Amino acid sequence: MTPLRASFYTLGCRLNQAETATLSATFAARGYQIVDFGDDTDVCVINTCAVTESAAAQCRQVVRAVLRRSPQAYVVVTGCYAQADAEALRRIPGVDLIVGNADKLRLLELFDVPRKEETPRVVRRKPVERGDFTLDAVGRYSETRANLKIQDGCNFACAFCIIPFTRGGPRSRRLDDLVREAEALVARGHREIVLTGVNIGTYCSDGHDLLAVVQALEAIAGLERLRISSIEPTTLPEGLVEWMATSRKLCPHLHIPLQSGDDEVLRRMRRRYTRADFAALVERIAACVPDVCLGTDAMVGFPGEDERAFANTRALLADLPLAYIHVFPYSERPHTAAQHYPDKVPPPVVQARSRLLRELSARKKAAFYRRFVGRTLRVLFERCEDGLYTGFSDNYVKVGVESAQALANALLPVRVEAVEHGLARGTLLDHDP
Ligand code: SF4
Repeated sequence: MTPLRASFYTLGCRLNQAETATLSATFAARGYQIVDFGDDTDVCVINTCAVTESAAAQCRQVVRAVLRRSPQAYVVVTGCYAQADAEALRRIPGVDLIVGNADKLRLLELFDVPRKEETPRVVRRKPVERGDFTLDAVGRYSETRANLKIQDGCNFACAFCIIPFTRGGPRSRRLDDLVREAEALVARGHREIVLTGVNIGTYCSDGHDLLAVVQALEAIAGLERLRISSIEPTTLPEGLVEWMATSRKLCPHLHIPLQSGDDEVLRRMRRRYTRADFAALVERIAACVPDVCLGTDAMVGFPGEDERAFANTRALLADLPLAYIHVFPYSERPHTAAQHYPDKVPPPVVQARSRLLRELSARKKAAFYRRFVGRTLRVLFERCEDGLYTGFSDNYVKVGVESAQALANALLPVRVEAVEHGLARGTLLDHDP
């Protein structure tokens, strides 16, 4: 019998990517043939995001495009947008199943045979609030780097953020279960694992914190790199920075969201630190971890952000040893405190401020990359376009080399020679210097 086919599309964060990889593994284990998104399929799962209004609009667009291209496919929409606004999805004719976050990973229990429905079925309940969890599958990744979900949910209630509404309170994955998946990912050939969650610094399972997770994963033979990536500034566990400074596997890279460099805006955002706290943290990490790459998020145009507040943010970002800034225009979200705030910032002002910060980010990134000209970085190569292989160093420098030899998933030393168009160009070395 010909197997049923399933395809997947993911919008949003790394955590969503990890969950799609888990879903894809559960479909494959059930006998589905996994096909590329866009190919003919029997089931199409769209894993959505609701973090901004433009993410929500993109979700609706993708759903409509899938329905046009594959009108016969059984269309499942899940994830944060399905949780936040099932009604909007229900109004799109042709959608079959809408599944909130609490039931996302048990999708296959919700239908036997993928048969088109007359009207969309909605399975959506309040997200889970607490309790350690396990995941039974080993995520399927076509990418070089694999994500590993270690945590979900958040109760920090930042005034702009819809995530606590869509994903519920904080909870952690059992340590033995995440080590089991990481071992299987390494056995499949993944050399780098990126830890993911909503607020991973709050990881706490059976007395283990995030540092214990790092230490347990580092013991896996064959795992060469472990990356923490995004972590809230108030949640770094004791000893993590010092561990990063000497570890051979934990990448010297952290993405620590600032959002605003103005104390009044931070207070109104309900963030849990001041600009001085953030600056002290970044300076401490930069002093402790050699060649560390520190990135951040900046939110532009939060209600009440006047010229002075923006100038404070810009000046702080300029002063700190940051390698890049992800700039997000504020987006009003339902179920958040900030949607009721007065003093909205006009869109043209938000655009102009965003442009200034993006230019600043490009300058800072180029300056960070230039520090490595003449030096050697070990690069995990990912993809090739027109003979140019690119990949990332442990400290998140994107490096490109021309090579006739296949380099995908190779971890090799590269001597950096120049920085061009956001890329460090270099030549491969035969061996580590
Ligand atoms: S820490 Fe704040 S911004 Fe981050 S997920 Fe929690 S509520 Fe949202």
